[in-house]
Amino acid sequence: MRTIEKKIFQEAIKQALIEMNHELSPAFISRLASAKETETGTVSKTILDDILQNHEIARKGTFPLCQDTGMVVVFADVGQEVYFSFDFESTLNEAVAEAYAEGYLRKSIVDDPIHRRNSETNTPAITHIRLVPGDQLRLRIAAKGGGSENMSTVRMLKPNDGLEGVRQETLKAIKNAGGRPCPPLIVGIGLGGNLEKSALLAKEAILRDIDDKNPDPELAQFEQQLETEINELDVGPMGVGGETTCLAVKVNTFPTHIAMLPFALNLQCHAARHREVVL
Ligand code: SF4
Repeated sequence: MRTIEKKIFQEAIKQALIEMNHELSPAFISRLASAKETETGTVSKTILDDILQNHEIARKGTFPLCQDTGMVVVFADVGQEVYFSFDFESTLNEAVAEAYAEGYLRKSIVDDPIHRRNSETNTPAITHIRLVPGDQLRLRIAAKGGGSENMSTVRMLKPNDGLEGVRQETLKAIKNAGGRPCPPLIVGIGLGGNLEKSALLAKEAILRDIDDKNPDPELAQFEQQLETEINELDVGPMGVGGETTCLAVKVNTFPTHIAMLPFALNLQCHAARHREVVL
């Protein structure tokens, strides 16, 4: 067994959360910069420039890159040979609370969906824990904004709907969403499994590296085609119109039931905050 110490675990989470609220991945920034170069509309080009400038200011450390500093989501792949010398969930939430206090990040979580009192700590985080072989802990950590999450959806399609049905549902949802999810977007699509699994697949899809390629050639081509078609919808940056509605489409799949084609769409706004940590 390999022991993971509480302090190392907490520091890794705190550092990841404070960093991601100030700095996006170089690959994501590079996509935004390329989009600004090719965008032809005056207003849409200015918006992309504003977003890039905003990210540059945030990178210097004083201000987070958005006032909505997100709900924390953690996918933890726990090696079966890992031993924790602490309570996993409560320690993780302590780390989140410390990160949001020390980083002067807005606390956006209410402790009950009806009574809606602010928990004052930005906790609890949403955790998805999986046991895997080995002696390492892989954490994929995200700070997910509410605006883009609100425009996400789950639908149970018919098996015969196939990729064409997925295409139509996706285009319809993004057109209807307009500027509300704060485009340009990463569009995460989960296909297969069941109701809840499809939503998890879509969430994991938005955490993929922006430059990666789907290992399935048919899906890789579908992702590319859908990206092109989404950018032809004229939603544009922040919904002002233009050619840059999304920067990437990612499709993740899982086996499913013969009678089902679960489809989930998770939208990631231009504040695409996530980090991967391996301990
Ligand atoms: S959707 Fe994203 S960019 Fe828009 S307010 Fe929320 S976190 Fe910020």
